[in-house]
Amino acid sequence: MLARIHFFSLVFAASTTSYDYIIGQFRPQNPLVHNTSAYGTAFVSIIDYAYQSAPQTYVGNKVETMRAGKALGGTTTINGMSYTHAEEIQIDAWQWIGNQGWTWQNLVPYYKKGEIIQVPTPAQYSAGANYNSLYNGKSGPLLVGWTWDIQNSTVHAELRSTYEHLGILYLPDVNGG
Ligand SMILES: Cc1cc2nc3c(=O)[nH]c(=O)nc-3n(C[C@H](O)[C@H](O)[C@H](O)COP(=O)(O)OP(=O)(O)OC[C@H]3O[C@@H](n4cnc5c(N)ncnc54)[C@H](O)[C@@H]3O)c2cc1C
Repeated sequence: MLARIHFFSLVFAASTTSYDYIIGQFRPQNPLVHNTSAYGTAFVSIIDYAYQSAPQTYVGNKVETMRAGKALGGTTTINGMSYTHAEEIQIDAWQWIGNQGWTWQNLVPYYKKGEIIQVPTPAQYSAGANYNSLYNGKSGPLLVGWTWDIQNSTVHAELRSTYEHLGILYLPDVNGG
């Protein structure tokens, strides 16, 4: 499931302030940022910090690359725009460690308030997209849905039958806890 900001505005205040250093370039249509189908193309580009880890003892001293967005907007500018709610057990853990009322059920109304689900088309349904209206918002600012190119693939059907073969049940809506 992908997300994009439904309405988005940037306000630049007229100012006499000068800056010593501005990272990157202001390019509102930079495909490294906007092309959700080209995940990974921003890696090792001008907008990726590509931090190098210390050699990792337990993976044969391999150095790992840690991605992070070097731009206004931070790592959101290079991430995959996948949108999923946390699992129930993850949020309920906050209450277990003493934060009374911090439960997944109490969080759901806020998830719903923030999003507007783009109901899958019949073609997307038949390709595997599905959702439960109980857990998805209908009038928030963040538009979430499925892209044609992601659904136009056999990988999801293959994954589903593989999991079912292993006894792992199909979950129609990952946002349902
Ligand atoms: C490759 C990748 C894919 C991901 N895919 C997804 C996804 O599909 N869906 C999802 O929900 N999440 C995804 N994430 C996670 C998500 O993008 C991050 O959790 C989130 O963007 C972190 O937000 P943040 O505000 O904490 O940090 P950031 O967004 O990283 O913000 C930190 C900001 O600080 C700035 N900064 C850093 N150092 C300095 C400095 N010394 N001086 C001044 N500024 C500095 C950076 O430029 C940046 O703007 C992904 C992350 C990565 C790395």
